[in-house]
Amino acid sequence: MNETADIVVIGGGCIGAAIALYLAEQQSGKVLLLEQKNLANGASGKGIGIIRTHYTHPVLAQLAYESLKLFHGFSERFGGYDAGFHACGYYVLVGLEDVETLKALVTRHQTIGINVGLVSPQAVEAQLPFLNLSDVAAVAYEPDSGYGSPPQTTRALAQRAADLGVDVRVQTPAMNIYLDNQGQITGVQTPTRDIHTRTVVDCVGPWARKFTQQVGLTFPVVPIVEHVVVVERPLAWAEPHPVVSDLVNLCYFRADASTPYTRIGNSDPQYHPKFALAEADDYQGQLFPGICEELHQKLLHRCPALKSAPVAETYSGMWGVTPDYQPILDRIDAVPGLYCAVGFSGHGYKLSPIIGDLMSRLILGKMDRGVELLKLFRFSRFQEGALIQSPLSYSLAKGLR
Ligand SMILES: Cc1cc2nc3c(=O)[nH]c(=O)nc-3n(C[C@H](O)[C@H](O)[C@H](O)COP(=O)(O)OP(=O)(O)OC[C@H]3O[C@@H](n4cnc5c(N)ncnc54)[C@H](O)[C@@H]3O)c2cc1C
Repeated sequence: MNETADIVVIGGGCIGAAIALYLAEQQSGKVLLLEQKNLANGASGKGIGIIRTHYTHPVLAQLAYESLKLFHGFSERFGGYDAGFHACGYYVLVGLEDVETLKALVTRHQTIGINVGLVSPQAVEAQLPFLNLSDVAAVAYEPDSGYGSPPQTTRALAQRAADLGVDVRVQTPAMNIYLDNQGQITGVQTPTRDIHTRTVVDCVGPWARKFTQQVGLTFPVVPIVEHVVVVERPLAWAEPHPVVSDLVNLCYFRADASTPYTRIGNSDPQYHPKFALAEADDYQGQLFPGICEELHQKLLHRCPALKSAPVAETYSGMWGVTPDYQPILDRIDAVPGLYCAVGFSGHGYKLSPIIGDLMSRLILGKMDRGVELLKLFRFSRFQEGALIQSPLSYSLAKGLR
């Protein structure tokens, strides 16, 4: 061992960067953030970045609401750095079978303070004439929601962490975790040196299964390819539009603020087994056949004005997906010194600031009502057969909401 750290955070995505930053804010000693390649090398480099509070589970809605507030005050809160956040508004569209669920959720979300309301499809069509809502029965609107830039946010969080003393090391993979005879963490192996530490925070996203295998754990986190189609809107419709979450056609789309591009992604869970990879390292930016054409058709159905609009780009990123589409946020008792924040299943970006806050306090032993919320996301839920389920659920989107 030739170096010592109090805490080593592994994985330079938005989650690892947020946790490292919040640790630094609480004077946690020497904190290292290790990234195997460059910051935002994984999911955080490719995310569409939608930030909304509309969740079916009350704890997730609460966490998303707390995070949304942090995105609104991001620059003031985090040393002047910018997350690329645009509060362009967010619409949720549902069909007849989900009207009662939407109404109940809007009421619940209003009671916790979220700025959300129901809008009639006719009123939305009058406001946004490019939308075809012929198969939509009800709509909710969150005016304060929108989108941010996941890579920009990751770099902002990491830069602020570095300003506060975190040693951010890119091109530094954690190659091995050292344990003593009791299974307690004693260090981390990197290509150039060993780092002696008693505390490791696993934030490796879709690499979670591979990472935890080395300490004898089986994390049910499957790397899944998520596709994005980018369409260039015509000059007549150059103005950016709000985010749309389409729970009828199981897709989501948003506009860039500074280019005439609309980005659409898939939220149909039936595709995920088909897009699964054996290992996160197998991901090479591949696109599975057929899905981009289908996403394009879904966009044209919802926005007929884009009929002649060219596809500017198709690309993919990777999600780390758990069986209930919820992350693992825990202290791992079987490996003393190991903490995990992985498996965000395609919705981790919006939660990253609040996860940084809560996980840092869990690591520092500062238990309070906020940190207690993390128990919902304990690793043992998979062995207990206690997967996270929402009291209310949409008929098609299922756990993805
Ligand atoms: C196409 C797409 C659209 C999305 N849309 C949204 C959205 O609209 N809203 C939303 O909230 N979320 C969205 N997401 C999900 C969101 O981007 C992720 O949940 C989030 O970025 C996860 O961040 P992370 O830090 O956990 O993981 P990652 O960003 O994957 O970071 C993990 C990091 O760990 C590093 N690493 C792995 N192994 C090691 C090792 N041994 N040593 C050192 N480093 C290692 C990797 O290189 C990587 O940089 C989307 C994702 C994709 C791909």
